Amino acid sequence: MADDLSVVNGARVSFARHKTELDDSDAGLIRFLMRERHASPFEHAVFRFHVRCPIFIAREWFRHRWSSFNEFSMRYAKATEDFYVPEPEDVRTQVGKPGSYSFEPVSDEVADTTREELRQVYETAYGAYERLVELGVARELARAVLPVGAYTEFYWTVNARSLMNFLSLRNAEAAQREIRRYAEACERFFADRMPVTHEAFVAGGRVAP
Ligand SMILES: Cc1cc2nc3c(=O)[nH]c(=O)nc-3n(C[C@H](O)[C@H](O)[C@H](O)COP(=O)(O)OP(=O)(O)OC[C@H]3O[C@@H](n4cnc5c(N)ncnc54)[C@H](O)[C@@H]3O)c2cc1C
Repeated sequence: MADDLSVVNGARVSFARHKTELDDSDAGLIRFLMRERHASPFEHAVFRFHVRCPIFIAREWFRHRWSSFNEFSMRYAKATEDFYVPEPEDVRTQVGKPGSYSFEPVSDEVADTTREELRQVYETAYGAYERLVELGVARELARAVLPVGAYTEFYWTVNARSLMNFLSLRNAEAAQREIRRYAEACERFFADRMPVTHEAFVAGGRVAP
């Protein structure tokens, strides 16, 4: 649902003008709007993503209030046996103080142990969940035994202005690695659908207008 033209037309309506094709002057206008932080025209370009991610990532994502979410419900549907186990190279240790951690690799042994511990907890938790559901316990209560590594899915509808805010915070060094991977994917869609806006965003230091 998003393109550069909706930004241009959002801005040009001030002069009762409407374009059907983007030209060089429109690209210049987008760069001007970004530079001067005339932000509202960017709100007319809208993306809808269908996301599948672990609950602990969804919690970070849902903090982005300037957007709309609808999520899979474990009240209405049975949870799937689907849990996040990081790749060995993604198991890391944290070094330093809060606010300035760096994340360093761990030994193969620690990576294997981490993955195995997670698998065991997931198996135990899902087994308990199934037994409770089998006993007739409501799904809305039985889900309490499931860990935050369980996958969820949601629709996320977000306009380009808010998406840029998300990208500046989550496709960034300080963001958690897992949400950063998702943000990188979102940014690829953004760059593909709105190349001029994306270029201006990057040129402006990745600051949302
Ligand atoms: C690296 C990192 C670490 C984080 N750590 C923590 C943490 O430890 N604990 C924690 O609770 N959160 C944490 N957060 C979440 C963070 O505080 C934000 O809630 C989240 O990034 C959403 O950003 P946002 O408010 O800009 O986005 P949105 O909610 O989409 O808001 C967009 C913009 O609208 C405006 N806005 C929205 N709501 C209000 C409001 N109520 N009042 C005034 N202006 C508003 C602001 O300009 C805001 O930037 C962290 C985020 C990052 C990226």
